[in-house]
Amino acid sequence: MRARAEIDLAAVRDNVRTLRGYAPRAELMAVVKADGYGHGAQPCARAARQAGATWIGTATPQEAFALRDAGDRGRLLCWLWTPGGPWQEAIRRDIDVSASGTWALTEIVAAARATGRTARVHLKADTGLGRGGCQPADWPRLVAAARAAEAEGAARVTGVWSHFACADEPGHPANAAQLAAFHTALSVAERAGLDPEVRHHANSPATLTLPSSHFDLVRPGVSVYGLSPSPEVGTAASLGLRPAMTLSASLALVKRVPGGHGVSYGHTYTTPGETTLGLVPLGYGDGLPRHASGGGPVLVAGEWRTVTGRLAMDQFVVDLGGDSASAGDRAVLFGPGDQGEPTAEDWARAAGTISYEIVTRISPRVPRVYANQDV
Ligand SMILES: *Cc1c(COP(=O)(O)O)cnc(C)c1O
Repeated sequence: MRARAEIDLAAVRDNVRTLRGYAPRAELMAVVKADGYGHGAQPCARAARQAGATWIGTATPQEAFALRDAGDRGRLLCWLWTPGGPWQEAIRRDIDVSASGTWALTEIVAAARATGRTARVHLKADTGLGRGGCQPADWPRLVAAARAAEAEGAARVTGVWSHFACADEPGHPANAAQLAAFHTALSVAERAGLDPEVRHHANSPATLTLPSSHFDLVRPGVSVYGLSPSPEVGTAASLGLRPAMTLSASLALVKRVPGGHGVSYGHTYTTPGETTLGLVPLGYGDGLPRHASGGGPVLVAGEWRTVTGRLAMDQFVVDLGGDSASAGDRAVLFGPGDQGEPTAEDWARAAGTISYEIVTRISPRVPRVYANQDV
């Protein structure tokens, strides 16, 4: 195989159990948006449920429908909606939906009437993130509209929720301010007569570091896949997490070249002397960041090498120095890090990004191979 992303589903299950230990009184929603951060939404959702996740979360409705198509039957929340829904399909398929404003609630109520069912709705407050969610000034109106929809039988408010801006920086003053704003939003909702099943605010970093944010449900994403949300929060190992994805390739070519030889587009690297070059058949077409040119780490023949010269669409070169290797030898770009290989965090540092982006971008051209599918 040219290259593969091996996904260890036992690691996903262990991570979910570990995260449940961090939030023992809350339910756990495993977030599987963006194809499970590149790991495969359906197998990861299944593994998460096996380990006790009672909810699954997606961003887009299409992601939620794909899980239903694959046989997922448990509670499932989808939060990123635009006018037009498709609300009716979501309601028919037992998907909890989210409303950040009255426009959404109006569409949800109309769709519920059309289906003859009661929509399950999570009202989202903007407690300070300044992205999705309803501003405090508009919240009483959204809550009142939701209460009216409940009275009519068109909707049931199953959740009230929000999302952190700075939870990956423990102790950041925005975290406490957001929690205070959330308590206010909850009081307004309760005084209006809403009685949500689940109140939820915590992403991975808050699940790991901020127990006062756990409420009834936590929503970890990146940590389910074994990655730390940020170096400030800890390393994966210090948090008890195990990275689930290992990205590797077979060397496509190994050759001797003389000193003074330019390597890859633009000749940004010239061999300092006679050396051995290895060709790794992965590039930005596979989702590797071109920004890691000259810096991305890779384990070849027992040592860390770096992307030598520019990383191209389909391939990059590593200077193996005097070491010998053969076509077909395994090059490990990242994995859990306990077999001497780099981690997604190392790639993130080399490319000036976060590990979330490294794993999520690995493109469909790289086959996913699942280990430990069965419990
Ligand atoms: C992505 C996302 C999460 C999970 O965040 P992580 O930092 O990956 O744990 C939780 N909630 C919402 C609304 C999200 O968009």
